[in-house]
Amino acid sequence: MTLRPSTRAWERLTDRQREKAARWQCISPRCRNRVDKRNQRLVCCTCSSRSYASRNAIRVKWLNLKKSAKRRGIEFLLEPFDAFECWAAKYGYTQITARGAEGLTVDRKDENGAYTWANIQTLTNSENARKAAEFRRAAFVPYYQQLQPF
Ligand SMILES: [Zn+2]
Repeated sequence: MTLRPSTRAWERLTDRQREKAARWQCISPRCRNRVDKRNQRLVCCTCSSRSYASRNAIRVKWLNLKKSAKRRGIEFLLEPFDAFECWAAKYGYTQITARGAEGLTVDRKDENGAYTWANIQTLTNSENARKAAEFRRAAFVPYYQQLQPF
């Protein structure tokens, strides 16, 4: 049963967590993933990355923003991260872990522009969805107009 009782982390565990650890299962509640026996981990990779994301929410948002900008070929000038952190504090980009309509996004004011300090603003998800719909409507040309362009 006691596979890793020597570690200091072991002493802080509850009985339930010790039970799970002894079965090489992640000790997070409701998680049944297996952990790697070789590196003596108590928490699985999924849970540890989730916990990192909750402790560094703004950094994770920034990294994702940067990655998606790169993927879509949009210039990304919101460097370094410290500056983004200051911007977030100043412009109320704080409810970032909220899901649904209340969650905040970083929006480019000009959709064709780059990610620069002057071109970004915070929008809630619902505002951003409305803006995207307007943008699509503006670009939409009805089929009959495509056939008869006069
Ligand atoms: Zn887990």
